[in-house]
Amino acid sequence: MKLQINNTFSKELPADKKLENTRRQVLDACFSYVTPKKTAKPQLLHASDEMLDELGISKEESSSPDFLHVFTGNKVYQDTHPYAMCYGGHQFGNWAGQLGDGRAINLFEVNHNNKQWAVQLKGAGETPYSRSADGLAVLRSSIREYLCSEAMYHLGIPTTRALSLSLSGDQVLRDILYNGNPAYEKGAIVCRVAPNFIRFGSFEIHSARKNYPILKQLADYTISNFYPEIKSSGKDKYLDFFKEVRNRTIDMIIHWQRVGFVHGVMNTDNMSILGLTIDYGPYGWLEGYDSSWTPNTTDAQHRRYRYGNQSYIGLWNLFQLTNALYPLVEEVDPLQKLLEEYNPLYEEKYLEMMRTKLGLKEKDSKDKEIIGKLEETLQLIETDMTIFFRNLAQINKTENVEEAIEKIKEAFYNEIEFKEETKQHWEDWFTLYLQRLQQESASDAERLTYMNTINPKYVLRNYMAQLAIDEANKGEYKLIDELYTILKKPYDEQPEFQKWFAKRPEWARNKVGCSMLSCSS
Ligand code: AMP
Ligand code: MG
Repeated sequence: MKLQINNTFSKELPADKKLENTRRQVLDACFSYVTPKKTAKPQLLHASDEMLDELGISKEESSSPDFLHVFTGNKVYQDTHPYAMCYGGHQFGNWAGQLGDGRAINLFEVNHNNKQWAVQLKGAGETPYSRSADGLAVLRSSIREYLCSEAMYHLGIPTTRALSLSLSGDQVLRDILYNGNPAYEKGAIVCRVAPNFIRFGSFEIHSARKNYPILKQLADYTISNFYPEIKSSGKDKYLDFFKEVRNRTIDMIIHWQRVGFVHGVMNTDNMSILGLTIDYGPYGWLEGYDSSWTPNTTDAQHRRYRYGNQSYIGLWNLFQLTNALYPLVEEVDPLQKLLEEYNPLYEEKYLEMMRTKLGLKEKDSKDKEIIGKLEETLQLIETDMTIFFRNLAQINKTENVEEAIEKIKEAFYNEIEFKEETKQHWEDWFTLYLQRLQQESASDAERLTYMNTINPKYVLRNYMAQLAIDEANKGEYKLIDELYTILKKPYDEQPEFQKWFAKRPEWARNKVGCSMLSCSS
C-alpha cells in the first residue's frame, strides 16, 4: 500500500515536547505524539469503496494485512508519526477546559488527486487527553459513526467520512445508561477521514490559556491551508475567516433540519472549523416530526440539543468562537455584526430550503406562513418526517384535499388520532398547499423529480442502525453492508429496499439504542 503522505498539521504547528503518554494538561502545543494501542485480534468488517478511491487505495490493497494493521493502529505506516490533538470546549453550555483527542489518534495526512485528507483512528487507545476514560470505542457506536457519516455524505451534507470499520478483538467495559450496570462489549475502531479535524474548541483552548501566539499560528494555518480564497490581511483576515465559518455552520445546520438529523452533542469541541458534521455520538433521526426531540438521554432534562434548537446552538457556539478569536481582532463591533447577521441569514436559508422540500420553485410572500402552518400541523399527531415529505411529491395539482391526504396518510403513526383531532387542521393546510401549487409552472412530474432530489427516501433510521448492531454483536455483518449500500443512494427509489421505507416499528419506540442514546461510546 503506497500512500501519498503529506503532513501539514504536525509539520506546521507546535508539538507537545513531552513524549510520554500520560494524562495531563498539555501546554504550548497543538498536539502530542502518541502511538496507537496494539489490539488483540483485529478484524476488518467493512471498508468504504469511495473513501478507498479518495485516498488512492485499491480494493485489493484494502484486503491486505497491511491495510488491516495500519487502520487498526497495529502498525505505524512508514515514516509517519501519529498524534492526538489538543482542544478544549464548552460542554452543555459550560467551559470544560482541556478535552482533546481522548480516543482519537491521527495517523497522517494524505494528498491524492489534489485533495488533502487527514486520517484518524477512533478508539485506538489512550492519549494524554484521555482524562478518566480508556481511549477505546465499542462496536455499537463505531457502526453508528461508520454508517452515518457515509450516509450523510451521500445525502449531500458536509461531513467527516469513514474509511473502515474494524473489530479490535478486545473487550471494552461500558455502562450504557450510566445506571450502574457496566458490561463488556466488543471493541472496535473506525478510521475516519476529513480535510482536517480542527474544532471550535481547538481555538478556544489557546485563547483560554492566553496563548495568543499559538492561537494566531493555528488560525493562520487553518486559513492558508483550508480557506485559500481568503486573501485579506491583518484583522480582516480573521473576520473573513469567521464569516466563512459562520456561513458554513449555517449551511450544515440547514441540511440537518432538511433531513431530520439531530446531532445530539453540539458542544464546541464537536463543531468542525470546516462546517462538517463531526463526532457521531448519540445522534438520531427524527421519525415523528417533533421540534423538541433529542436522542441524547444525557440531555433529556434540558433538551439543549433538540431538533428545534440546533440553529440557536449553532449561533451560541459561534459566539464562543468569536470570543476565542477576539485577541486576533481586538474589536468587538465587527465580530458582533457578523453574529447579528446569523439569524436573518439562517431564516432566509431555512425558508429557501423548506420551499425546496415543498417543491415551490417560485417565490411567494405567503410561503413563510404555509411553512409555519405545516410545522405546527406536523406536530399535532405523530407524523413520520421522511415518509411525509417523500410522499408529498406525489401530489398532483388537480387533486382535491381528500386525495392529497390519502397520499401522505402512510406517514401517520396512528390513524385514529388523525380522525379525532387533527383532520380539520390537515385539510386546512392542504387547501393552502394545493392552492399554492397552482402558481408553480413546473408540471407535476417535474416537481416530483425535483422534490425527490431534496427529500430522501432512505435515511439511517435509529432502529435500522440498532438492527445492524444487534446482528453484529452476534457476529453477523451483512446488514452493515446492506445499509451502507442503500444509503449510498438515499434519493433513489431502490424498490428492492422498499422495506426500509417504513415507519419505526413499535418495538423500537423506547428501546435503548433506538430513541435513547447516551454519550457512553
Ligand atoms: P464526545 O462527547 O464524544 O465528543 O467526547 C468529549 C471528550 O471526551 C473528548 O475529548 C473525547 O476525546 C473524550 N472521550 C470520550 N470518550 C472517551 C473514551 N472512551 N476515552 C477517552 N476519552 C474519551
Ligand atoms: Mg467529541
